[in-house]
Amino acid sequence: MPASILIQGGHVLHFGPESTATNPSIIFKAQDVLVRGNKIVEIADSIPVPPGATVIDAKDHIVSPGFVDTHRHLWQAGMRGIVKPKPIADQTLMEYMCSVRTVAQPLFSAEDMYWSQLVGACEAISAGVTTILDQAQGSRSPAHVERAIDATRESGLRSIYAYFRHEPEPWKEWQAKHMGEIGKMLHASEDQRITLGLGYDPITWESPEEIHETMAIAKNAGSTLTTVHFLPTHFARTLNEMHESSHAFDSDFVLSHFNHASAEEMKLTKELGIGISCTPETELAMSHGQVALFDCAEQGIKAGLGIDTHIMCSGDMFGQMRLALQSARSIRNASLYLGTSHGQALAAAASPARKLPRSLIHTSAHMVRFATLGGAETLNMADRVGSLEVGKLADIILISLLSPNILGTSRDTDSLASAMVVLANAHDVKTVIIDGEIVKKDGKLTKVNWENVRDNFMVHHKEVNANIQKASESTDWDKEFEMLRASWYIGPERVV
Ligand SMILES: [Zn+2]
Repeated sequence: MPASILIQGGHVLHFGPESTATNPSIIFKAQDVLVRGNKIVEIADSIPVPPGATVIDAKDHIVSPGFVDTHRHLWQAGMRGIVKPKPIADQTLMEYMCSVRTVAQPLFSAEDMYWSQLVGACEAISAGVTTILDQAQGSRSPAHVERAIDATRESGLRSIYAYFRHEPEPWKEWQAKHMGEIGKMLHASEDQRITLGLGYDPITWESPEEIHETMAIAKNAGSTLTTVHFLPTHFARTLNEMHESSHAFDSDFVLSHFNHASAEEMKLTKELGIGISCTPETELAMSHGQVALFDCAEQGIKAGLGIDTHIMCSGDMFGQMRLALQSARSIRNASLYLGTSHGQALAAAASPARKLPRSLIHTSAHMVRFATLGGAETLNMADRVGSLEVGKLADIILISLLSPNILGTSRDTDSLASAMVVLANAHDVKTVIIDGEIVKKDGKLTKVNWENVRDNFMVHHKEVNANIQKASESTDWDKEFEMLRASWYIGPERVV
C-alpha cells in the first residue's frame, strides 16, 4: 500500500464546477484531505486516520493547490550580483537582454548552472510553487541541459523543461539530436514529474520551412508544449502575420507577456486556444506595457501568472497576484476618473470625467484562480493539477494564518481569499507537498539539504560573478544596445 498523508482540519480551497477566470466561484471549507501515493483520494469533513499515515495538523492554515507558474527561467539565481550597466532590478528589457543574455549567460559552466538552477527551484518550492514552465535559455551544451534537469529533479519540483531552441548553428550541430535523447530519458522516468517542452523564441523571425522543421523535431522528441516570449510592444511582426505564413501556432503554445496585443491578435489567440503567461512584476518594471491578464480572461483566453526572471523581481506568486490585481484596479480607476477608454486614459488627463468606482470588479478570488487553476489551464494540465480534487495529483500547500502579517483574518471565503493575495508571503507557506511527497515541512525544505545547497551555490556564485564583473568592464554597452535595437527592427526614434 502506498504511503498516506492526512491533512487535518485546514481551510480547504475549492473551485465550483462552473468556475471560470471571470467567475472564479471559490469556496473554503474546514475539511480533511487524504493523499495516497501521489494522488488526492478523499476530501471530507472528517476522515479517520489510516494506519501508518503521516498526519499534518492544518488547523489555522489555508490548504491550497500549489501555485502554477507559467513562465520562469529557473537557472538564473546565480546572476543576482549583476550591477552593470546598472543594477539588474533597474534595467529595461533591452538593457537586460544585453547584460544577462549577451554578457552573463555565456559565462555559466554546467556546474554553475546546476547550483543556480537548484537554488531557483528551492526558492520556488519554498514559496509554494509546485509546477513551473521552465523556459531554459541557459542550455548552451548537452551538459548544461542535463545538469539543469538533475537540479530540478533533486529539488522535487514539477516542471515542463522547455528545451531552449538556440540560434541555427547549435541547433543543427547538436541540439536537435540531444533533445530527442532528453525526451526519451524524461519519458522513461517513473513519476513523469518533469516533462519536455520547447522554448522557441526564433519562431518569431524564422521562415515557415525552418519553423516546421523545428516543430517536427520537438514533437518527435516528445515535447508537448511550446513557449515563446511574445512582446507586441517590441516586435516588428504581429502574431497574425506570423501565423498566416507558417500556420504553426495552436493550443499547445504558451506565449509569455502579450502586453498591448491588438484585437486581431486577441481574436486569433482565442480561436487557436493559445495560452498566455502574464508576469506582472517584470512586465511593469521592464517596459513591456500593461498586464494583459484580465483582458485575456474577458476574451475567454487561457491565462495564468508567471514569475519570469527571479533575479530582478520576487520569486513568489503572492507578489505577482498583488501586482496584477492592483495594476488592473489602477487602470480601471484612472479610466473612470478621466472618462476615457482603457488605452486613452493618460492622454485625457486635461479634461477628466471625475467618476469613481462604486465597487472593485477585480477581486482576490480572481487572483487565487489565476495563480492555481488558471495556470494549470494555460499549461494544458488542469486535468492533473491546479485544484484539490479526488483523483488529481497531490500538489498541495499549507499557508499559515498565524504570522503577524496575517493573524486575525476572518475564516469566511472572501476574507481567506484576500488574505492569501494581499497579506500572505512566502514565509507563511509552511508545508509543500508535490506528487504526494512532502518537500517542505514546518517551514523547512525537506528534500534537499539547504545549508549544503546554499554553501555550494555561493562558491560557484562568487566565481561566476567575478567573471561577469570583469566582462562587464570591457563591454561597450551603447554598442550592444544599438546592435540589439537594430536586430529587433526598432527604429532609433522609438527609443527615448
Ligand atoms: Zn522570460
